[in-house]
Amino acid sequence: MAIQEFPQSRLVAAVPSSPSLATAQRVRDIQASGGDLVSLTIGEPDFPTPPEVVEAALSAARRGETRYTPVTGTVALRSAIADKFARENGVTYDPTSQILVATGAKQAIYSAFTATLDPSDEVIVFAPYWVSYPSIAQLVGARPVVISTKPEHGFIPQPEELEAAITSRTRWVVLNFPNNPSGAVASLAQYTALAEIIERYPTIRVLSDEIYEHICYDGVAAPSFASVSPQMQARTLVINGVSKAYAMTGWRIGYAAGPRDIITAMSKLQSHMTGGTSAVSQAAAVAALGMGSSYAAKQVAAYERRRNLVLDRLAACDALRPVKPRGAFYVFVQVLPNRIPATTSVADYLLDHGVAVIDGTAFGSPGWFRISIAVGEDALESGCARICKAFES
Ligand code: PLP
Repeated sequence: MAIQEFPQSRLVAAVPSSPSLATAQRVRDIQASGGDLVSLTIGEPDFPTPPEVVEAALSAARRGETRYTPVTGTVALRSAIADKFARENGVTYDPTSQILVATGAKQAIYSAFTATLDPSDEVIVFAPYWVSYPSIAQLVGARPVVISTKPEHGFIPQPEELEAAITSRTRWVVLNFPNNPSGAVASLAQYTALAEIIERYPTIRVLSDEIYEHICYDGVAAPSFASVSPQMQARTLVINGVSKAYAMTGWRIGYAAGPRDIITAMSKLQSHMTGGTSAVSQAAAVAALGMGSSYAAKQVAAYERRRNLVLDRLAACDALRPVKPRGAFYVFVQVLPNRIPATTSVADYLLDHGVAVIDGTAFGSPGWFRISIAVGEDALESGCARICKAFES
């Protein structure tokens, strides 16, 4: 008897696969079959993991640090994370009860939502958003409430827009600065204005994804939302990790810091899901955090050059309105209306012209696309040339 396809759960069937990972696979398939394609899709640094970090992992493995670790992470890593917050953000956390290490920032966010949300609870997300926030909310049965931010506001949420979206079912407000994909960086004053609204609704918590914290341009510094006030620190779960700042995407180390009740709930969930994450990767992350922002500073100089190159090349194309990013490693670009056939998406249109980008619909912004600048200057030169040519025709 033929075996029928095993049905997906209702929740899994309702969400798309991560669009950026799906596009990356499409790029690999086209390149594997000999297609001529410049890929500007990738969301990971093209730099190597620092050698001293690799060395720390090798030494840990040789020392026999190859066993289960505590569910919330090794004592050494939780202490290093607490030190990082005290040193870089001026906020203190108890490493025993307020910090949890996870298998990437993505898993930390998944755990936070799974551990705290019930069906029909609402999560406020600002577009353009990192692709996974609405999907993760949906995967746990909650409802993402999307508010579009505007380029003329620098893609910073306005306090009145936030307040208008709050209902009695709102549980989380998600903030992500420096932002993927827009590159917006919120200032302390802008955070304070949002905090004044959040203070009025004591049952709401803030999830602040600060994974691009160390990647800022033009001398800008990205504050932590937890540093706004002790009251906001008590209401905020900060998400961060080593993937972007230390070129460690494959090591899968992210972390959450915040209120004891949330960390306890996440830790309970994680005890049944993954347990403590890779022991060797945790040893590597201790070495990485010990380097502070020095490693990222070198990458930032290269990203800034690439950003300027992309902005310069795209300025020649009157169909496009690129936004100058102040952080993260992407350039978000608006396509003016009626410049491509209505039947195609921007990303598909550009794919037909030999360049792969991520379509704005993935971020809740149709009519836009995202270029990654975490690729070499040669790829950016030829990618931008192809983009401009595509819009000339
Ligand atoms: N948050 C944002 C805004 C991201 O862009 C990414 C990765 O692209 C992540 C979280 C996931 O990071 P990690 O590799 O630690 O899971």
